Amino acid sequence: MMPRREILHISPHPDDEAVGAPATLLALRDKGFEVTNIVTSLGAPADRDRRRAEVLEAGRIGDFRVKILDDVIAGAPADYEAAVTAAILTASSRAPVILVSPSPHDKHPRHEAVGRATAAAAKKLGAEAA
Ligand SMILES: [Zn+2]
Repeated sequence: MMPRREILHISPHPDDEAVGAPATLLALRDKGFEVTNIVTSLGAPADRDRRRAEVLEAGRIGDFRVKILDDVIAGAPADYEAAVTAAILTASSRAPVILVSPSPHDKHPRHEAVGRATAAAAKKLGAEAA
């Protein structure tokens, strides 16, 4: 039996899966892709419980798996980009994978960091970052 094709969406913020390319993710889900939303931040500490609940509910509604990177969120800001790359590589152990993230030229600093982290992961996976 062929494994389900997997898409990893990397979210700099917990609502980015609903902002970046939600219709594409839903359409691919309907075509049999398994979508995982990798959440790399939950905002200000006072908002994190609420935002965690929201992103989990969004995943339930969209039939996306949700992986919240608590280690990255709690880690040092200087380690963020490398930690996101490492998390993508860990999560993508099942090939083939389509990676979806913001552009490294997004203009939002955290979006750009996730874009660079995703490109680095794609390069290590042997894929062409686009
Ligand atoms: Zn965002």
